Amino acid sequence: MNEPGNAVEGMLTLLAIEPTLLPPAPERADGRHIEHRRRDEIHDCLRCGQRAMVAYIARSMVADPDPGPRWLDLCPACDYWLRTNLPEEWRP
Ligand SMILES: [Zn+2]
Repeated sequence: MNEPGNAVEGMLTLLAIEPTLLPPAPERADGRHIEHRRRDEIHDCLRCGQRAMVAYIARSMVADPDPGPRWLDLCPACDYWLRTNLPEEWRP
C-alpha cells in the first residue's frame, strides 16, 4: 500500500476518514470540476470545519466494494498540514 503516487490513500489514513462518509465526486472530474467546487461552492474543511478552499478527489485502493471517487475538502491550513504530514513516498 506504500506505493508512490498513493497520496490520496495516505490522506484518508491521516484524516482517519471512511471514504463512504465523503461526498461522492463525479467519475470523470477534471480541473474545472475542482475549480468550481473550490470557488463557487461552500464546503466545510474535513479536519477543522472552517471553509474549505482546497478540493481533492480521493479514491480508495482498499475499500471493498469500491466506493468510487470522493471529494476531500480542506481549508488552506489543513491542506498545508496534510501535505507536510504525508509520508515522503506519498507526496505528489
Ligand atoms: Zn481545516
